[in-house]
Amino acid sequence: MKKRKNKKEYWQELFGDHCCAVCGRMDDIHRHHIFYGINKKHSEEYGLVIYLCPYHHNMSDEAIHFNKELDLETKQDAERWFIENFGTIEDFRRIFGRSWL
Ligand SMILES: [Zn+2]
Ligand SMILES: [Zn+2]
Repeated sequence: MKKRKNKKEYWQELFGDHCCAVCGRMDDIHRHHIFYGINKKHSEEYGLVIYLCPYHHNMSDEAIHFNKELDLETKQDAERWFIENFGTIEDFRRIFGRSWL
C-alpha cells in the first residue's frame, strides 16, 4: 500500500479547504466522513472526508446524508482516489466491506 499525496491536499485542490464541496459556502462548515457508519474510522484513516455546509450535509433533501445520488457520486470519487493512491479495488473491498464502483 503506497501513499503518494495525502487526501487532504487532493480535496484542497478539488474543492478548496473548509468550504462546502457542493456550493462553496465557507461559514458553518461540517466535516463529513464519505464512508460513514462502520467505515467512519477507515474514512478517517485514509482522509476520505469532505467539508459541507449544513444544507448540503444533513439539513435538506439535497444533503449528502439524504441525497443518494450525491452520496454515491462522492463515494465513487473517493474509491477511485483510494485505488489511485493506496491500493487495489480488492484492498478497498477488504477494508470497506464492498465496492461502490
Ligand atoms: Zn453547500
Ligand atoms: Zn456526514
